[in-house]
Amino acid sequence: EKQKNAVQALIDEFTVSADLLKAIKDNFIKGMNKGLERDGETLAMIPSHVMGRLDGTESGSYLALDIGGTNLRVVSVHLSGHGPPVTYQTKYPIEERLKTGDAKALFDYMADKVGSFLDEQKIKVSPGTQIELGFTFSFPVLQTSINRGKLIKWTKGFSASGMVGKDPVAYLQDAFTRRHIPVRVAALVNDTVGTLLAHAYEHPDTAMGVILGTGCNGAYIERINKIKKWKDAKEDVAADEMIINMEFGAFDKERAILPLTMFDNKLDRKSVNPNSQILEKMIAGMYLGEITRNVLLNLVDRRLLFQGQISADLNQMWTFETAYMSAIEADASPTLHATRKILESTLNFQSTDKVDRQIVKLVVELVGRRAARLSAAAIAGVLEHTEGWKKKASIGIDGSLFEYYPSFDTDIMDGLVEVFGETVRTNISIGLAQDGSGVGAALCALLAAKHANGP
Ligand code: ADP
Repeated sequence: EKQKNAVQALIDEFTVSADLLKAIKDNFIKGMNKGLERDGETLAMIPSHVMGRLDGTESGSYLALDIGGTNLRVVSVHLSGHGPPVTYQTKYPIEERLKTGDAKALFDYMADKVGSFLDEQKIKVSPGTQIELGFTFSFPVLQTSINRGKLIKWTKGFSASGMVGKDPVAYLQDAFTRRHIPVRVAALVNDTVGTLLAHAYEHPDTAMGVILGTGCNGAYIERINKIKKWKDAKEDVAADEMIINMEFGAFDKERAILPLTMFDNKLDRKSVNPNSQILEKMIAGMYLGEITRNVLLNLVDRRLLFQGQISADLNQMWTFETAYMSAIEADASPTLHATRKILESTLNFQSTDKVDRQIVKLVVELVGRRAARLSAAAIAGVLEHTEGWKKKASIGIDGSLFEYYPSFDTDIMDGLVEVFGETVRTNISIGLAQDGSGVGAALCALLAAKHANGP
């Protein structure tokens, strides 16, 4: 009986009703408008300086360079003007001393690796010409043009000195020039913008790119006359649209609308960035497992689960991985065999009974479905703001959470249907986007060159 009540309370707390989803969507649209009006708002709504659309007939060979994770990645991208792009890539490790040393050494290393990649792949560049490169630099950057920006701060364990406030493109270009490597850094690319472009090459009606991986964020195509804060808007630009990087993981810093539970508050308090990225902490792969763990601990402490016993493994922060949630969601066996394996073999519980496993599965489903429905609220906000739901359009989504979590895609679509009705199901197609920081960055370089040369 006590178990039943506790479970019902969790269901009530974690369920995003249709009405709440709509209220969040409305609040999200207000946040978008504020961010388009001025700098410093919760939704940063950063102009990407990427203008013009793709039609899938683009052709040429480009390079992409991607830094921001464990590895440095160099990609050559060949666009034939039809059909899927052909890519070759090499990954290079980034040693700790490069991450935390002198910035010049880090950028020299990047240029060297691009140089050796050109040799390896036997890529010839005609004398007097340069190959164009799209540079995905996944750190917070204040972008001032398609290939200019300033690093606001390092994240993810990088701290190379002398870089904050400086232009990463200038550093990289300088390193190429000093080495006589014939590469021009044509575009500085945010990964959501790259995701949108990579999807658009194969689905020209793409209106939005979303990342649901370690973090969450999205980019969409906005009309330039709505970007009120963009003072450099020139009358003579041919395009009337620009991609906006929303940085939507930051939504609801004010805690005005999101249904935060004590489990979310605990996670936020113990995170490296308390009071920021509130929506991201309810949606993204980095956090869902930890929220689930917080709920399970609470049930254990109340002696409603595992007979009040916890395993030493589950007692540690971050041990309940979001990937386990995917496996538990997918576990349709009558005895919850896969769930048992995770609890007993991976997390070292001595024994679990079926009721324990059913409760764990229910908690996982609550946390996972809430994440998908909050993602739907954000996407619905963009679709309503742009009136995009009224016509045929595609949304490209990248990231392991979206790729592997069962029913994340259908849960998002169901949320959109609650907001817009059944027509949205036929109008909007949601698909897995591939390689925003490779193909997408190359396409960004292509658009940059096209825009620079005039219409
Ligand atoms: P990134 O966003 O860093 O580029 P990914 O898209 O691979 O990389 O996302 C990594 C995140 O996805 C991690 O936080 C991890 O918890 C989560 N993840 C990895 N595998 C799965 C899975 N099978 N199901 C759900 N989430 C997963």
